[in-house]
Amino acid sequence: MHSDLPYLRAYPQALQDQVRGLLGEGGSGLAVLLLRKYPQAHGVRTDKALYHYTTELKNRYLRNADAINKVLFDNKIHVVRNALGLHTSVSRVQGGKLAAKHEIRVAAMFKQAPDEFLRMIVVHELAHLREREHNKAFYQLCVHMEPAYHQYELDLRLYLTHIERAGERLWAAA
Ligand SMILES: [Zn+2]
Repeated sequence: MHSDLPYLRAYPQALQDQVRGLLGEGGSGLAVLLLRKYPQAHGVRTDKALYHYTTELKNRYLRNADAINKVLFDNKIHVVRNALGLHTSVSRVQGGKLAAKHEIRVAAMFKQAPDEFLRMIVVHELAHLREREHNKAFYQLCVHMEPAYHQYELDLRLYLTHIERAGERLWAAA
């Protein structure tokens, strides 16, 4: 079925109605709400800084998982529906052993975003080191790394909804 709120399809109807109400108010209702809640953008400016940001979270919560080889902001990721970031792992034979190379890509539009949104995306991609599927164990791991994971995901989806409707980004580079 076609939805007028594609980023929020998985949420209860009552919440979607509330969002429609906010969008009705001259289109700025969502922007006002988001900027009030998240006034500041994060300061992660480069791929190198993003790599450190990601490894720090990984070392804190997933110390025994495979190392991450590469992390970058990717301007080729088009945020359509569910792809906010990507995790790829390529298995290669190295010295007679099978070694996986892990790469995490974050959609470039989140270079200008609150820290909470970046954290949610990175936590999501890190959880894929352990769980391939979006199952219960996967989300438990996400919440373990970021207790407000689900709230941040909803707010991030509200932001995507805002962009789709109003077209304007809300956070300039810090
Ligand atoms: Zn995923």
